[in-house]
Amino acid sequence: MLETSQNAKNNQDTAWSRFINLLEYKANLHGTHVEKVKPEGTIKECAVCGIETPKPVWVRKHTCPACGHTEDRELNAAKNILNRGLKQVGAGHSESTSSERRSLS
Ligand SMILES: [Zn+2]
Repeated sequence: MLETSQNAKNNQDTAWSRFINLLEYKANLHGTHVEKVKPEGTIKECAVCGIETPKPVWVRKHTCPACGHTEDRELNAAKNILNRGLKQVGAGHSESTSSERRSLS
């Protein structure tokens, strides 16, 4: 059976769906829940000040031109995802949001 790019996409979507279902099952089992966030822009956004800095995929380090924050690209993105999830459940920081910070600069 040939694997077309559409089949690969469908298989990938199915795998993610199963993974999220497993996470939700385990979360329910332990009295918590899974919060899904939109991942768009989490690589570009600075986890400290919220400024977006486009970077090609081979650049592995996040360096913010606005605040100087430097960190591994994936760790910075993970912090952005965590912050988005916390904000969605109302447990985010009481400080200004990254979009508010962006408008201040
Ligand atoms: Zn920054």
